[in-house]
Amino acid sequence: MKKEDLENLCLRCGICCHKKVVGPEGLFFIHPTAKCEHLDENNSCLVYEERTCLRIEQMVSQDGVLPSHCPYTRLRPGYLPGRMVTEGEFEEWLSELQQIKKRIEEGMNLLRQAKRNGLDYPL
Ligand code: SF4
Ligand code: SF4
Repeated sequence: MKKEDLENLCLRCGICCHKKVVGPEGLFFIHPTAKCEHLDENNSCLVYEERTCLRIEQMVSQDGVLPSHCPYTRLRPGYLPGRMVTEGEFEEWLSELQQIKKRIEEGMNLLRQAKRNGLDYPL
């Protein structure tokens, strides 16, 4: 497909530029309103040529980034879309992730301490 035809598939909804967080199954949760700071009120990217985020080809090759209504998802049969969630669900999952991170850090600290005490396999 020519670059111009590829660009024309876009509905300019801007959803792929909303904030995302990886969900429990590796597919992204998409925030309903929070957007990238470079997206203007017409859903145009203010830094399009210099952007460092994923290009459309990369988003198509990675499940869970694009929303289900995005025409680009049809370019790869079997594409698993990301899910737009409510603000509450997004915040709840973020807080759960922080708890998981805290538990991992606590576990790592215990392992380091055990190692310092000469125990390689404390569990
Ligand atoms: S989600 Fe798809 S249709 Fe919407 S702006 Fe992004 S690429 Fe375009
Ligand atoms: S840099 Fe541009 S294309 Fe990338 S997420 Fe932000 S607004 Fe979207």
